[in-house]
Amino acid sequence: MPILIQIVVSMNNKNTFIIVSTQPYKEKDALVRMINEDGTSISMIAKGTSSPTSKYGALLQPFNICEIDYHLKDNLSFFISASLKKAIVYDDFNALAAASFLLQSMEAINRLESNSYPLWTIVDYLVLCQTSSIAAMTKWCLDTLKLDGREMMMDECVKCGSLQISSFSLSAGGFCCKTCSVAEKNDISDIEILRTLRCLAKAPLDLAYKCSFHALTMHVVKILVYELKDSYPLAMKSWKFMDELV
Ligand SMILES: [Zn+2]
Repeated sequence: MPILIQIVVSMNNKNTFIIVSTQPYKEKDALVRMINEDGTSISMIAKGTSSPTSKYGALLQPFNICEIDYHLKDNLSFFISASLKKAIVYDDFNALAAASFLLQSMEAINRLESNSYPLWTIVDYLVLCQTSSIAAMTKWCLDTLKLDGREMMMDECVKCGSLQISSFSLSAGGFCCKTCSVAEKNDISDIEILRTLRCLAKAPLDLAYKCSFHALTMHVVKILVYELKDSYPLAMKSWKFMDELV
């Protein structure tokens, strides 16, 4: 007589998450998308939290970092309770739109490749967005190119090694000197912007706010985003929304 071992996959957990989005689900429930500290994107069913009397409805909102108790059953996660650890707030609408684009893009990429963006890395980008949304998006795009195995060469001319830089070319893979740039598709040739790109690419994420980014423009971000969107599931709906605001 074979021995039957029944494994019941049902357990309670406590973890820290950043809330990405909350959608109403059934009558009073919500479906909450979130990312944990390892960079895993998950969806959780939160019963009763869409009701106006729920004490958790206000906590389960985008950009809040919460410690959440939940129940895991048959691969579905059920919200139990939450406490707020940190709230990231934006006082201008452009920064909020840019932060939404970044957060949703990172969530989508984590779904594709788990652990690409752990929670506290995401928080660093979102906090940089409070200082400059253009700098945060530029830094994020440069880092994501690196994640894609396409780190841009920004120390010297990517073709000949010359230190006399005159342009940035995505297709060449970084900076080009005047001679080499003739044969390349040059995306940016403003020297102030090239300096900023180098600073942002080299700076650790938590120190990127120290770069001077007054020369950066949405045009620079656009070039990088359009390059990345062929490789990654970026949140282009949020991008379009933000692009129309500017
Ligand atoms: Zn060269």
